[in-house]
Amino acid sequence: MTKTGTVYLVGSGPGAAGLMTLRSVELLGRADVVVFDKLAGWNFLAHIRSGIELIDVGKQANRHTLPQDQINQLLVDLAKQGKNVVRLKGGDPYVFGRGGEEAEVLVAHNIPFEEVPGITSSIAVPAAAGIPVTHRDHCTSFHVITGHERSDREASALDFSVLAKIPGTLVFLMGMRNLEQNAQELIVHGKAATTPVAVIERGCTARQRTVHGTLQDIAELVNAANLQPPAVTVVGAVVDLAKVLAEPIGQYPLRGKSVLVTRTRQQAGRFSAKLREQGAEVIEIPLLRIERNPDEGLWESFLQELPGMDWLVLTSENGVEFLLEKMREVHMDVRDLVGVKIAAVGPATANRLEQYGLRAEIVPNVYTVSSLVATLREHLQAGDHIALARADIADPTVAEQLRAMDCEVLDVPIYFTRSELTYKDFLMEILTEGHLDWISFASSSTVKSFDAVISSERSCLGNTRIVSIGPVTSATLRELGYAVAVEAKVHTLDGMVSAIQEASL
Ligand code: SAH
Repeated sequence: MTKTGTVYLVGSGPGAAGLMTLRSVELLGRADVVVFDKLAGWNFLAHIRSGIELIDVGKQANRHTLPQDQINQLLVDLAKQGKNVVRLKGGDPYVFGRGGEEAEVLVAHNIPFEEVPGITSSIAVPAAAGIPVTHRDHCTSFHVITGHERSDREASALDFSVLAKIPGTLVFLMGMRNLEQNAQELIVHGKAATTPVAVIERGCTARQRTVHGTLQDIAELVNAANLQPPAVTVVGAVVDLAKVLAEPIGQYPLRGKSVLVTRTRQQAGRFSAKLREQGAEVIEIPLLRIERNPDEGLWESFLQELPGMDWLVLTSENGVEFLLEKMREVHMDVRDLVGVKIAAVGPATANRLEQYGLRAEIVPNVYTVSSLVATLREHLQAGDHIALARADIADPTVAEQLRAMDCEVLDVPIYFTRSELTYKDFLMEILTEGHLDWISFASSSTVKSFDAVISSERSCLGNTRIVSIGPVTSATLRELGYAVAVEAKVHTLDGMVSAIQEASL
């Protein structure tokens, strides 16, 4: 009999990548299946294993794609199939997330489960707009309330005569449709019409917008600004603290910008972190998967010959990783490379080598493969033996060019790059939502993969601008008919960050 899996009811926080808990990241990393809805956001995609099952039960105000009882059943069924299930919800699962109902069903079916709290939007979203939900000078409590009008018990349970008298901060979730009605009810029952109110749309994301007003005029102001759900409404004196505490724009140059990062899963992290430091919202969609070449015979002869080579040429960080990983496996030592000179395509590759105590003799000033060849030309002597450790899709002419310099070239595709098509639906959804400012491409292979995914539907790019890491990637983009808005002056990830920054000024 299959061992029953565990269901983890996990909160993904209010929408910012950094506001996910360590426990959620850990669980996502070993989930067999993730069951999520729209409010869970896209940040989780950076933490899951490639190829796992993803089920969107997309619940929205008016569009229930899967009714709650079917979601409950789905969780039970998946666990009974022995799967590790992460049920991912926006904010905290037990704060208006129906996590309690799901947990009850799991218990009733004897399914092991764990609830993993998330940072709830009811505190994080006001905070992102400069509003602390409590403050000693203003209140002694805060109250989280559903503003959602429902014909059943929830709505009738809201007693505005009580709510109007509470001196604490009132935080309404799901309150957009009833904003006017709720505000009026509070006034009718005695709360001052001048009480400050803020409504924050998509808090903690690049699209955060805040409207300030009073109970009297907030509905009108929100209407005029056309704020849409999801939004949090905060009522109380603390709202005015935003005048002082809302972060000044300009502190983070990329604040309010969203960037789609398309790289391999292994590579994305560092680049994304840099963009986030500048204030950007980053969505990572892996478009490539890399795999070490499984051909043992190829590795064996390569590693046997390597110590006798004059040069080792490495064209990427991945190449360094796969080579050193394999060397460790067969108990080789970096000292076996004594006497082998190393050429690295750019500083990132060189830095990665340095982490292993290996210094590259050559790093060209311009970080492209063709300038690597040009630089090598100045150092090579006829008859030199060169090991070229590369990706399967690397420029095939490199070996030829080196051979044309009368060198012996051992051309080894040490890893393969494959298109990652798992995320096609997400990519399409993110693009068609149409709020993306930038898409970044750091290699021709990601461009090709992207093109394969969106194929005929490129009109969905709309106003999204493309940033490219360098001329080779740009050429591929143009060949495929994409407009390159900016190209990094220095062909590194840092160069791309600067390019986006300059273009966003
Ligand atoms: N469990 C969630 C709340 C789910 S109810 C939590 O703890 O945050 C859904 C409501 O949450 C939305 O209608 C909206 O009021 C609020 N919400 C969630 N994320 C939000 C965000 N990033 N910005 C504004 N409101 C948000």
